Amino acid sequence: MMAGSDRIVVVGTGPAGSRAAQTLYGAGCRNLTVISEAPASGGQIYRRQPVGFERPPSSLYGEDAPKAVRLHGMFDALAGKIDYRPNTLVWNIFDGAVHTHDGASTDRLEFDRLVLSTGAMDRVIPIPGWTLPGVFTLGGSQIALKNQACSIGRAVVFAGTGPLLYLVAYQYAKAGANVVAVLDSASYFDKVRGAAWMARSPKMLLRGLAYRRYLARKRVMLREGVRLRAVEGADNVEGIRFTTGGRDEFVQCDAVGLGFGLTPEMQLAEIAGCRTRFDADNRQWVIAHDGQGRAGNGIYVAGDGSAIGGADVAELAGERAALALLADIGLPASKTRLRQIERASGRLAGFRKGVETSFPFPAAWIDEAPDETILCRCENVSFGEVRAAIARFEPREVNRLKALARPGMGRCQGRVCGPVLAELLSAVTGRPLEQVGKLRGQGPVKPISYGSTCGQADPQVHAWMLAGEKSDADDQSL
Ligand SMILES: Cc1cc2nc3c(=O)[nH]c(=O)nc-3n(C[C@H](O)[C@H](O)[C@H](O)COP(=O)(O)OP(=O)(O)OC[C@H]3O[C@@H](n4cnc5c(N)ncnc54)[C@H](O)[C@@H]3O)c2cc1C
Repeated sequence: MMAGSDRIVVVGTGPAGSRAAQTLYGAGCRNLTVISEAPASGGQIYRRQPVGFERPPSSLYGEDAPKAVRLHGMFDALAGKIDYRPNTLVWNIFDGAVHTHDGASTDRLEFDRLVLSTGAMDRVIPIPGWTLPGVFTLGGSQIALKNQACSIGRAVVFAGTGPLLYLVAYQYAKAGANVVAVLDSASYFDKVRGAAWMARSPKMLLRGLAYRRYLARKRVMLREGVRLRAVEGADNVEGIRFTTGGRDEFVQCDAVGLGFGLTPEMQLAEIAGCRTRFDADNRQWVIAHDGQGRAGNGIYVAGDGSAIGGADVAELAGERAALALLADIGLPASKTRLRQIERASGRLAGFRKGVETSFPFPAAWIDEAPDETILCRCENVSFGEVRAAIARFEPREVNRLKALARPGMGRCQGRVCGPVLAELLSAVTGRPLEQVGKLRGQGPVKPISYGSTCGQADPQVHAWMLAGEKSDADDQSL
C-alpha cells in the first residue's frame, strides 16, 4: 500500500480528535474520515452554541476563548476537505469497521487505522434523592448554560468535588444565575496538599483561585470538607442536606448540579480490543497504550477518552497519536515536535496530580449509602437490592453482579452506575477494586433503535443485533 493511502477514521472532534485530524491531513493523509456524534466540533470544553445563538466566544469560554476560536477555525478549515460526519454516533466496532448511526440509518466504514478520542463524562456518586427532578450532573448543568444559555433552576446548589465544581458555579454566577451554595467534599487541607503540584502551572492555579474569590464576592455559600446527606423534596428538589465539621445543615434550592470529577468514555476502545489498566490513584480504569497513543491493532487513543488529563493534554495527545500513526504508515513525523509534546505533557501531568490530590474522590460514601438509595437509575435498582444479591450469590466480579441484580442493563449501559457498582462490590466483599473488575464495554455503546437497524442495507448489523441478544441471554444465565 502506498504511504498515505491507508483508510483512517478519527472518532471525536474535541481538542484531541480535532488536532489529530488536522495533523494527519497536514501530513498528507487524504483517505480520512472524521466522525462525531456532536453537531459541531469543539468537544465538551469548546462546545459550540446552536445556530441562532450569537453569544460572543468571551461569554461562552471566558479566558479559554482564544483557544476555542483557534480550534474551531482550524477544524472549520479542514471540514470541507475531508469526509466529515457530524451528528453520527459510532455505536460499535467489529469486522474491521466502525458502525455508525446518524439518527435515521446505519452505515459501516472499514478502516486500516482508527483514532479514538471519545472524551469523558461526569463521575457520579448516588446520594439519597439524586434521582429527583431538578438534579443534574455538573457537566449537564454546564451544557444547559453553554449550549442554550439556560440555568438548571432559579436557586442552584453545586455539590460534589473537582475543578468543574467551581468552574461551573463561577460560570453560572457570571451569567447572572442565582448560585446559592457550592458544597465541596474535598477539605481545605486536601487543597493545601495539592497546591505544590498545581503551582507548576501557576496561571491555571490562579485562575481556579479567582473563581473562588468571585463566588465569595457574590456571597455564594462556600463549604469544604462537606458530607452530602440527601437531596430533599417531594416531587422536585426543595433543598440539600449536608454535614460540615459535625454540624448538620440544610440549604433550600430548586436544582442541584452534582459531580465528582470525570470518567473516561472508553467503551469503543474496549470493544476494539484495547487493553485497560487500573489507575490506583484515581480508582479508575484507563486505556493502556505505549505512551504515544498506540493501543494495538491499528488503534490509537487520545484525550480524556483514554485517561482524564484536561483539554490542553487532550490536544497534545491528539497530535502525539497522529504523529505515531504517521510514523507507523511511513509518513514523516517530526521527532522535534514529539519531544516538545512530551515536555509540555509532562508539565501538565504535574498540574493534574495536583488536581487529583486537591479533589480526592470520596469513594467511602458509596459503601455508606442507605439501602433505599437508587444505585442504577435506568433499571431502578437500589443499593439494598444489590447488597442482597451480593449476600445471596457471593459474586466475585462485577459483570456477574450485573447479571444477578440488573444494574447497568438500562439505557446508560452502566456508564453511570458501573463504577459505583464495582466500588460497592469491592467494599462489601473486601476484594480490591481492581480485582472486582469493571463492566465490559458493549455495543451499542449508546442506545439506538432496533428498528433503524432492521432492513437496512447492511445485513451484518442485523445479524450482529440478533447475536447480541443471544449473548445477553447467556450472560443472564450465569
Ligand atoms: C460535560 C463536560 C463538561 C466539561 N467542561 C469543561 C470545561 O468547561 N473546562 C475544562 O477545562 N474542561 C471541561 N471538561 C473536561 C474537558 O471536556 C476535557 O478535558 C476535554 O474536552 C477533552 O477533550 P477530548 O477531545 O479528549 O474529549 P471531548 O472534548 O469530550 O470530545 C469527545 C468527542 O468525541 C465524540 N464522541 C464520543 N463518543 C462518540 C461516539 N460513540 N461516536 C461518535 N462520537 C463520539 C463527542 O461528540 C466529542 O466530539 C468537561 C467535561 C465534560 C464531560
